[in-house]
Amino acid sequence: MVAFEQHPDEMGNGQQISHLTAMQQVTDQLKAVFDAMADGVFVYDGQGHLILTNPAGRDLVGEDPYPSPSASLQDNADRFQLRNLHGDALTSEQWPVTRILQGEELKGTRVLDVLLRTLDGRDCLLNISGAPMRAAQGEIIGAVVIARDVTEFRFSEQRTHEILDALLQMAQITVQGTIPQSAASPEHLFSSRRVAQRLAELTRQVLGCHRLGLSIVEPQTEILRPLAVVGLSATQEQQWWDEQLQLEVRLGDGLSAEQNDRLHHNEVLLFDLRQPPYKDLPNPYGILTMLVAPLCLGTQVFGLLTLDYGGQEHLYTPQEIALTQAMTQLLALTLERERLQQSNVQLANLIAVAHDAIIVCTPDWHITFWNQGAERLYGWSSEQAIGQITHVLLQTRHPIPLEQVERQLAEEGQWEGELVHRSRDGETIIVESRHIMVRDEAGQPTALLEINRDITGRTQLLNERIQAEANEQAAKETARLMDEFLGIVGHELRTPLTTIKGSIQLAKRNMLRVLTTQQSFSEDTDRYLHLISESLDRVERQVAMQNRLISDLLDTSRIHANQLKLTLAECDLLKLVGEVVDDQRFLNPARTIDLLMPDANEVRVLADADRLRQVVQNYLSNALKYSAASTPVSLRIEQRGAEVYVLVVDQGPGLSPEEQQRIWTRFYRVAGIVDRSGSGVGLGLGLYICRTLIERQGGQVGLTSHVGAGSTFWFSLPLL
Ligand code: ADP
Repeated sequence: MVAFEQHPDEMGNGQQISHLTAMQQVTDQLKAVFDAMADGVFVYDGQGHLILTNPAGRDLVGEDPYPSPSASLQDNADRFQLRNLHGDALTSEQWPVTRILQGEELKGTRVLDVLLRTLDGRDCLLNISGAPMRAAQGEIIGAVVIARDVTEFRFSEQRTHEILDALLQMAQITVQGTIPQSAASPEHLFSSRRVAQRLAELTRQVLGCHRLGLSIVEPQTEILRPLAVVGLSATQEQQWWDEQLQLEVRLGDGLSAEQNDRLHHNEVLLFDLRQPPYKDLPNPYGILTMLVAPLCLGTQVFGLLTLDYGGQEHLYTPQEIALTQAMTQLLALTLERERLQQSNVQLANLIAVAHDAIIVCTPDWHITFWNQGAERLYGWSSEQAIGQITHVLLQTRHPIPLEQVERQLAEEGQWEGELVHRSRDGETIIVESRHIMVRDEAGQPTALLEINRDITGRTQLLNERIQAEANEQAAKETARLMDEFLGIVGHELRTPLTTIKGSIQLAKRNMLRVLTTQQSFSEDTDRYLHLISESLDRVERQVAMQNRLISDLLDTSRIHANQLKLTLAECDLLKLVGEVVDDQRFLNPARTIDLLMPDANEVRVLADADRLRQVVQNYLSNALKYSAASTPVSLRIEQRGAEVYVLVVDQGPGLSPEEQQRIWTRFYRVAGIVDRSGSGVGLGLGLYICRTLIERQGGQVGLTSHVGAGSTFWFSLPLL
């Protein structure tokens, strides 16, 4: 530069020759330095025309920087597209040459960074310094511009920034479980695929590869499921998803045992797809080499990262592989964290909507969390409950003193029992409660968890059931005592009755004897004797009635005690029924009792004859008892198939369908149906006994009846 600052007029003539020689030497030296300089040097005249440059300068801008000697500053600026670091074109005042020609020295802090498009189309970042050239009087006659290519340096600096930024974002996702706002909208915060896609982008940014895919290993089947892919065009990406969703590739597929083992030991595998066995496989994306790295948690591979540089030759340096491993570890952690976060969210949602009341308190019972279940159960909103003391708010009644509950919580960490609470509107609520003491790592209590399940309804239901069972038991016991009582009473009553009956019969026989042996009595005696005879008849009828009632009672208690004994033998039903009808005709001479028998001489059945007689007699006496004396009663015997039917038809009051059901039960008497025979009270036991007797003999009972249209009571027995 000195050469340009010296002026030939300042030297003497003699000296001039040697000076010239010396100057030539200096110029040559300077030229050598000028040519050897690594920085580009551009020399401009006062009008901004480029007049000189060194080889480094020419290299910097591409080809010959001199399009024409007259090329203006503007022409050059247009050719090189000078821009600032933000990519904005520089105005003519901002051009370095203009600034220098105006006297500015670009050095120190005034050094400029300028982007330049080289003549062969590359974008270069130039660090530009320079100074004006002045004549002796100080006027500016030109400019020297020194340009240093910092593209590489700035690029790696920028990449470092990018990597740091990407790592920072990944760290943020890992630590906070969220994608920074710039990267994702809040609604995508918990979507794994979205997170994976973002992580894949960041990883690709760090590793600088063309294409990067992430897949997850399905735990049971080991099938690889796609999670994210970056570096493909939209159509390619769609195609990739379609392919991946169709393919069912398993983790170890196509890998040697050794490769598989390495994968499980968190090692990265490198595949050259031009080599066998891969070279014959389809390669739609024309990939040359591919790197596969496992996402591991311990020795469990839960995902794979694959990356490639497409059709570009790429040398994977050890640093790059180490970086890939570091990234996969970070990815594994991030995805795992995301998974945990999601299950935490699910858990939190579950707790919020759980049916049970879930309450979290400080160790001294101040509520800090109150779920929807608690809101529903107690009627207090979360805002109202938080900060209150649980047992004060809910007026808790503990089954044991609170101090005891607290002691157990302190010693055993939990307590379970039933609590009585009061809801906001004053209702009593019974809950099955579980208290858990939560402690920190140092063992200090940090929270109390209370989970309450409403059992109010259950308790009421239980009480009702217990009550119903008790009632049933009591009823059974009463019935048993009643049967026992009936048995005893029946027996106790019957014994004297037998004696009375015997005595009456004896008295009647004696009376008959007196009446037949004595020819005549005085009128008075005769009258007395007849009175006595009538009284005896009346007493005998009463005794018979009493006897029947007591028999019914005894039969009933025997049926209940399962002590009713039947002696089955072959007998003729026609004969048996005929006898009963005869008896009834004799006892009720005023009544018409029709008997319709089948043609057969006899109808044989296997039965307890006395008990069968009792049934026929009961049916017949009921028919007579409950129908008007003027109406006839008829009895029919019919053989139908393998059975014989005995039907007793009356024209009495008839029975409603409901009464027809009930008359077969114990002690049931139809209200409003009166005994027209005056034979006295019934206990409502006869039909119950009849039914039991017939069913025990293999038959059935029933009736057809209509209110006001009489009844037909029947029973059937199997024929022999
Ligand atoms: P009871 O000893 O009272 O007659 P039953 O068991 O024989 O007991 O009859 C039960 C009830 O059924 C009777 O009280 C009566 O109300 C009704 N009943 C029985 N037979 C007839 C009938 N033939 N017609 C109308 N009602 C009858």
